Amino acid sequence: MLRLCIEPLSKRSSRDPREAQPAMKSHAIDTCPACGQSNTRIAAELTEERSARYSAFSRVKYGGLLETWLEVIPPIVNQCLACGHCWYRYQPDADKLRLMYASARRLGATTLRSRSPTQAMISEMKKLRRIVYSGDHPPE
Ligand SMILES: [Zn+2]
Repeated sequence: MLRLCIEPLSKRSSRDPREAQPAMKSHAIDTCPACGQSNTRIAAELTEERSARYSAFSRVKYGGLLETWLEVIPPIVNQCLACGHCWYRYQPDADKLRLMYASARRLGATTLRSRSPTQAMISEMKKLRRIVYSGDHPPE
């Protein structure tokens, strides 16, 4: 289930008017990118309740960057009624996307990226090698 923190533009509190320049609004994608149908609905958008969570997420994950884009790139998710595909109606351009990824912080506990295989993993790999190389090549 898709869970986003989105509210309609009209319900947002007042913001810096410099951020609300309509000419800066990104292009809306109203045709399904998967099947090309234009029979769509809004699957998710900010509500007042979700707006606070969205802002909190923006601050924690992106240092508040996404909050500054709300007027330009409102987080609205469209859904195709023909195939069910969901997509962001407004998407950041390549420069904004790079800035977003550069601003992202790793969340959650750090995990080891590599670890030694367990004895069960080693045994399973030996079995698989025997199956794969049976007859032609001896397992290494
Ligand atoms: Zn579709």
